Amino acid sequence: MSFNGDLFAQVALDLPLGPLDYRIAEGMELVLGDRVLVPLGSRKLVGVVTGFSRTSGVEEKKLRKITKVLADVAPLPEEWLRLTEFAARYYMRSWGQAAVAALPPFFRKAPGVRYASWLKKVREVKAPGVKRVESPELNEEQQSALAEIGAARGFAPFLLFGVTGSGKTEVYLNAMSRVLENDRQAQVLFLVPEINLTPQLERRVRERFTDQTVVTMHSELSDLERARSWLAVHEGRSRVIVGTRMAVFASFRKLRLIIVDEEHDPSYKAGDGLRHSARDLAVKRAQLNACPCVLGSATPSLESWNAAQRGAYRLLRLTHRAVQGASLPQLSVLDMRARRGEVLALEAREAVDAAIARGEQVLVFINRRGYAPTVSCPMCGWVSRCGHCSTFTVFHKAEKRLVCHHCGSSYGVPERCPCCGNPEITAVGLGTERIEEQIAAIWPDARVLRLDRDSVKGKGQTEEAFAKIHRGEADIIVGTQMIAKGHDFKRVSLVLVLNVDAQLVNPDIRAEERLFSTMLQVAGRAGRGEIPGSVFVQSRFPEHPIFSELRAQSYEQFAQRALADRRESFSPPFVHQAMLRAQAETLDRALGFLERAKQAAPRGGDGITVYDPVPMSVMRLMDEERAQLLVEAQNRGELHRFLEQWCARIAPEPGIHWFFEVDPSDL
Ligand code: ADP
Ligand code: ZN
Ligand code: ZN
Repeated sequence: MSFNGDLFAQVALDLPLGPLDYRIAEGMELVLGDRVLVPLGSRKLVGVVTGFSRTSGVEEKKLRKITKVLADVAPLPEEWLRLTEFAARYYMRSWGQAAVAALPPFFRKAPGVRYASWLKKVREVKAPGVKRVESPELNEEQQSALAEIGAARGFAPFLLFGVTGSGKTEVYLNAMSRVLENDRQAQVLFLVPEINLTPQLERRVRERFTDQTVVTMHSELSDLERARSWLAVHEGRSRVIVGTRMAVFASFRKLRLIIVDEEHDPSYKAGDGLRHSARDLAVKRAQLNACPCVLGSATPSLESWNAAQRGAYRLLRLTHRAVQGASLPQLSVLDMRARRGEVLALEAREAVDAAIARGEQVLVFINRRGYAPTVSCPMCGWVSRCGHCSTFTVFHKAEKRLVCHHCGSSYGVPERCPCCGNPEITAVGLGTERIEEQIAAIWPDARVLRLDRDSVKGKGQTEEAFAKIHRGEADIIVGTQMIAKGHDFKRVSLVLVLNVDAQLVNPDIRAEERLFSTMLQVAGRAGRGEIPGSVFVQSRFPEHPIFSELRAQSYEQFAQRALADRRESFSPPFVHQAMLRAQAETLDRALGFLERAKQAAPRGGDGITVYDPVPMSVMRLMDEERAQLLVEAQNRGELHRFLEQWCARIAPEPGIHWFFEVDPSDL
């Protein structure tokens, strides 16, 4: 559709309002999806044209003209408009909040005086000078997965369930090759979790598609680089994009395949803005494009697993490791109940001795950075807390600081207890720094490398740290999530998993699922080469059923039990949830707002439950008090009808920041 005689254009702006009407100046050439510059109050904003009309309901004198069409870049395609419209409606935001916010900063800011020369830089194509690496010959399971994906016509969601190291990535790469070879214009989207866009994976993709312009899109890129990737895909110069959750909103000419690697990963869920799930939107986008979507994981999310059980997704399995001779590691649980005070059990220490003696590498995984989760006074019970949040501060020994991991505030370590004056305050619990210190003390000759967000910063340092591991320049690697996933360490034969107990007793319904997947992923780092691997998990709850499922390396056993629990407790995926969240200066105000919002709620059908407002588990964050109200529904459509009606009835109040979160990932 294009402008022919219409007088008004609807322009979506990054504001909590629907698209606004603007007058089209005579002679202005305009099409749907154009980016335009429009006046709003005293500001000039970039918006996206989402429609045209001959009339407007807005008062004559309030109607303003479109300032300029940013026509040096092709309009956003209709498919992209439909995706952002869907996302806005689904996640209870305005179209503009979904659409404009999805553009790279360069394309969403009002053009400055040097816009034209910058745009030239953005259009520059970088040459990808890597040597081509051919695909290995696929094994039978890989071939049959590939054949099924290749045979799909139209929209086809797949769940590729393959143990760690089973060659899922090879299946993705081959499926991508086929699509690119069959259609000279086709484009593919390869989504990876935030933490997983490793240089290794990026290289693997570039080496496979040397005759394509492969671009990446993730949060480490500069504004210029991101704009460059975005435009290359938008203009069809690049046919392969590898990116994190933001890439699901890239603009394509002809998207023919979507891959979502490690589909269970929590980083696909956005913690701000739309608060969308990039995985869920990827499936929706494949539907809009009538193309296949492959979700892959060794530990699928229970939502996806359930969808595969119901037959909504087609299940593809890879049951063994792809590399000849590589096998899944032996896993043992060490009962820590009788070993108070010991950080590493004797069996674990002996295994480390043996691995190092053989010249193999050891991974020690602990999901907490810093030295200790808090410092405390044993005399009066004082505990170090953040002054801005309802959280404990983490002790970072190297910097001698107490840091809040929620807001980043940092404090000096008091010389004596601020409450009772006791000079002997102590660090409580374990973090990566403390483990590193203890390991260095037990194995003074070993080369210990710590890998967490404090020890390596930015892509360059991370890349160098991983290169060091691959070159065999570290014997023991201590790390957080950063080492858990995706890495293909050929020399690691032993993995120690510490400190899982807090997660086991966490009441969050997803805590166990996350723990299981993390443990299995970490365990999956061992034995990927020809050296057999072993894994030790230390716990004070060794009888917990999760450990027998883990020992059996049986995700399916785990999923069956966990889904039965969810069904019994009426939890997702058996109910659909949305949360109304409010932030205010005081908790009373936040709760009061939610209470009034609850009163204003329309009468839901039988299938809708509106709960009472409650404080969030981290109640204060950066000096704002936070509360929330849960809504549950049996039926997805009913939930959305309810939310739409309700949203229109909520009266804004000064000093209250509120928003909906649909499909919240933690309660
Ligand atoms: P996953 O994505 O399931 O973790 P990858 O695709 O990374 O697995 O494969 C794990 C290892 O096995 C990699 O080193 C990869 O090169 C190798 N590999 C995968 N498929 C094959 C195959 N068919 N033949 C030989 N090696 C393979
Ligand atoms: Zn004290
Ligand atoms: Zn804080």
